[in-house]
Amino acid sequence: MAQAQPAIGIDLGTTTSKVGYVVKGTPIILPNERGNLSTPSVVAFRDHQTAWVGELARNLMLGRDREKIVAYPKRFIGTDKRYKIEGREYSPSEIAVIILRKLKNLAARYLCIAENEIRKAILTVPAHFNDSQRLAMLKASKLAGFDDIKLVSEPVAVAVAHGYLEHPGSERMLVFDLGGGSLDVTLIELHDGSFYIKGTGGSDSAGGIFFDRALAGFLARRFEELCGIDFINDPVLYQNLINIAERTKIDLSFVEETEVLFPYLIPGNKNKKSYLNVRVSRSHFERITSENYQEIRNTVMDVFKRSSIVPGWVSRVLLAGGASRMPGVRKLLSEIFPPGVRIEDPGNAEKSVVLGASVLAGMMYNPDKLSSLELKNVTSQHLGLEDNDGEMIVIIPRGTPYPLEVTKTFTTAMDNESEVIIHIIQSGDTDKGSRYQSLGQITLKGLPPARAGEPNIPVTFVVDEYGVLKVMAMHPKNGKYLELTTKVGQGGKIATKPERRGTGLRVV
Ligand code: ADP
Ligand code: MG
Repeated sequence: MAQAQPAIGIDLGTTTSKVGYVVKGTPIILPNERGNLSTPSVVAFRDHQTAWVGELARNLMLGRDREKIVAYPKRFIGTDKRYKIEGREYSPSEIAVIILRKLKNLAARYLCIAENEIRKAILTVPAHFNDSQRLAMLKASKLAGFDDIKLVSEPVAVAVAHGYLEHPGSERMLVFDLGGGSLDVTLIELHDGSFYIKGTGGSDSAGGIFFDRALAGFLARRFEELCGIDFINDPVLYQNLINIAERTKIDLSFVEETEVLFPYLIPGNKNKKSYLNVRVSRSHFERITSENYQEIRNTVMDVFKRSSIVPGWVSRVLLAGGASRMPGVRKLLSEIFPPGVRIEDPGNAEKSVVLGASVLAGMMYNPDKLSSLELKNVTSQHLGLEDNDGEMIVIIPRGTPYPLEVTKTFTTAMDNESEVIIHIIQSGDTDKGSRYQSLGQITLKGLPPARAGEPNIPVTFVVDEYGVLKVMAMHPKNGKYLELTTKVGQGGKIATKPERRGTGLRVV
């Protein structure tokens, strides 16, 4: 029996998306129309009103209508990226809306209710998502018809799926999520029933697709030796090779050796064979992909370095993401961590995020329980202002739990300044010369004449429960507040210091 107003758990993944629901206390993943538990994050427009989502869309990626297909929008969510489809531009979050609607539709079908009865959801986002990315996700979920939505960090959902929700003790975990397009590494401390994110980082060049590409490259070279055909520069042959490489990669997670077969229907080929075949062993595959493993190792070590934490701090490693099923990943992790550290492999690592999200969605009927859980998120970037010398003044350091509100008072840098610019920036680093991202600015105009340092300009930073940043600055003349909520697409402009702009601002 479906509950009135069911709440669902959603993992809008980079390469595949999943949706789940709790039945009698147990989370289940809802199948799509093909019976698959994950749906490719790919959208094929038929016209501006209709779009196909999932396998149908992915299967058309090489066809005549390939220009009307958008794959993997999550990589660009919250940025200025736009997709041009037949004269109309779509933002990554508009594409996300279409995928979210599809997930809602398949949940409604499964639960035998109308789509508009599903309005509650837990939606997961990577821990490192900044405020413009979170805001874009929230906006997308509202447009997809969810009005009671809670964003939860993917690694927290993983910890929940691994059974740490009602865990009595404390635990120091590293969530290792190797998905299709990216690796996300998060250090979480579980303490008194709350999850504290101690550090997070990742790589956009370490996911499963990069293993597929490395193996496809090797197969292309072998096939070229066998038949003289260039597979790399033929998009259709190459995409077929990528699909075969992915299947082979997955097979090698279960067996030590396998055989790759490729139909070879080219008339007049000299050895008259109708297929190509190459044997690949797991150890050979691991050699072919050694650079990918190196990237994974560097990413994990970098997260430790930036968080000033050592691998020995970790008591458990939780595996998540489909590509973490590769035996080579386990081997690599057991080299990084001391022998006592337990590596927890749920056996269905690509499902952890949606299972955790579904468990949390099941608790949405019981808001007290959900809020007492205190999913303490922490900011993933330093948030602050640019001072008159082009340096960053950190207002909220990276790793600060939110929601929170911080006010700092500023003043003018020179006499009779008539205008100051509150330039809001975020950065992963605060060293001199490091890069920061501009989140927007508030300009206070028409300041009354005053000596440098006289006017008081309180600036308040509020990070709400969703991790969305709002900045308010008080005008010294009339006491009115001007505010700015970081909006979708406003992030993305990377400025390199020093680029002296002169904001007219200095710290009191
Ligand atoms: P994302 O969240 O980034 O969309 P997933 O966690 O769903 O990604 O993982 C998808 C990736 O996992 C794909 O690259 C897929 O090939 C890979 N994958 C799935 N199952 C296995 C397996 N058994 N062995 C190796 N790789 C796998
Ligand atoms: Mg994922």
